[in-house]
Amino acid sequence: MHERSLIRSLLRQVEKIAAEHPASRVVAVRVRVGEFSGVEPELLELAYKDLVEETPIRGAALQMERVPLEAECRQCGHHFRIEHYNFQCTRCGSLWLRLQNGEELVIDSVTFEECEP
Ligand SMILES: [Zn+2]
Repeated sequence: MHERSLIRSLLRQVEKIAAEHPASRVVAVRVRVGEFSGVEPELLELAYKDLVEETPIRGAALQMERVPLEAECRQCGHHFRIEHYNFQCTRCGSLWLRLQNGEELVIDSVTFEECEP
């Protein structure tokens, strides 16, 4: 399952970050999920809940932010959001686009809480 392998690598990254903050525990992990990343948020959530329990950061919440796909026109430089799979510049009609965002799954931030002494 695609989502499980994504979560595994995500958890490895968070564990590394957590190891640098030994006096704190992770309470939340915020990720950016691209609209076109091919990731199902529901499946991602399930995979996370399942796998996080086996890691040192168990109990940490997963927060997801959906990121829309954006494009920059290579013809006129116009920057816009792709909607309804319409891969065409909304200003000049060019199909020569550079796609941005929307295709990735990245860690946006990790929230820590100080452990009780
Ligand atoms: Zn254009």
